[in-house]
Amino acid sequence: MSDNFIEVRCVICGHAWLEDIDELKRQQGIYKAVVYRGASAKTQSYRARCPKDGTWVVVDVEEVDDA
Ligand SMILES: [Zn+2]
Repeated sequence: MSDNFIEVRCVICGHAWLEDIDELKRQQGIYKAVVYRGASAKTQSYRARCPKDGTWVVVDVEEVDDA
Protein backbone atom coordinates (compact mmCIF):
# COMPACT_ATOMS: atom_id res chain seq x y z
CA MET A 1 0.00 0.00 0.00
CA SER A 2 1.40 3.35 -1.03
CA ASP A 3 1.76 6.30 1.30
CA ASN A 4 2.78 8.55 -1.57
CA PHE A 5 -0.23 10.87 -1.55
CA ILE A 6 -0.55 14.48 -2.61
CA GLU A 7 -3.28 16.98 -1.85
CA VAL A 8 -5.06 18.31 -4.91
CA ARG A 9 -7.33 21.35 -4.95
CA CYS A 10 -9.90 21.89 -7.68
CA VAL A 11 -9.47 25.22 -9.42
CA ILE A 12 -13.20 25.46 -10.11
CA CYS A 13 -15.03 24.43 -6.94
CA GLY A 14 -12.19 24.53 -4.41
CA HIS A 15 -12.70 20.94 -3.30
CA ALA A 16 -9.52 19.37 -1.90
CA TRP A 17 -8.75 15.67 -1.90
CA LEU A 18 -5.86 13.24 -1.82
CA GLU A 19 -4.48 11.46 -4.87
CA ASP A 20 -2.15 8.48 -4.90
CA ILE A 21 0.83 9.61 -6.96
CA ASP A 22 1.76 6.05 -7.91
CA GLU A 23 -1.77 5.48 -9.17
CA LEU A 24 -1.62 8.65 -11.27
CA LYS A 25 1.62 7.42 -12.81
CA ARG A 26 0.09 4.06 -13.66
CA GLN A 27 -2.98 5.64 -15.21
CA GLN A 28 -1.46 8.29 -17.42
CA GLY A 29 2.30 8.49 -17.23
CA ILE A 30 3.85 11.90 -17.35
CA TYR A 31 1.40 14.53 -18.52
CA LYS A 32 4.00 16.95 -19.77
CA ALA A 33 7.74 17.09 -20.13
CA VAL A 34 9.88 16.67 -17.08
CA VAL A 35 11.25 19.97 -15.88
CA TYR A 36 14.71 19.77 -14.47
CA ARG A 37 15.51 22.26 -11.76
CA GLY A 38 18.92 20.93 -10.93
CA ALA A 39 20.88 17.77 -10.44
CA SER A 40 18.76 16.30 -7.68
CA ALA A 41 15.21 17.61 -8.08
CA LYS A 42 12.71 17.55 -10.88
CA THR A 43 9.05 18.29 -11.28
CA GLN A 44 6.56 16.10 -13.09
CA SER A 45 2.99 17.01 -13.85
CA TYR A 46 0.00 14.69 -13.72
CA ARG A 47 -3.68 15.16 -14.25
CA ALA A 48 -6.20 14.44 -11.50
CA ARG A 49 -9.95 14.65 -11.85
CA CYS A 50 -12.11 16.45 -9.30
CA PRO A 51 -14.58 13.95 -7.80
CA LYS A 52 -17.15 16.71 -7.34
CA ASP A 53 -17.47 18.21 -10.82
CA GLY A 54 -15.06 16.31 -13.05
CA THR A 55 -12.65 19.18 -13.62
CA TRP A 56 -9.16 18.12 -14.68
CA VAL A 57 -6.52 19.62 -12.41
CA VAL A 58 -2.80 19.57 -13.20
CA VAL A 59 -0.73 18.42 -10.26
CA ASP A 60 2.96 19.21 -10.03
CA VAL A 61 4.91 16.57 -8.16
CA GLU A 62 8.46 17.24 -7.11
CA GLU A 63 10.64 14.18 -7.01
CA VAL A 64 14.07 14.04 -5.45
CA ASP A 65 16.47 11.44 -6.71
CA ASP A 66 18.63 9.57 -4.28
CA ALA A 67 22.07 10.22 -5.63
ZN1 LIG B 1 -14.23 20.60 -8.53
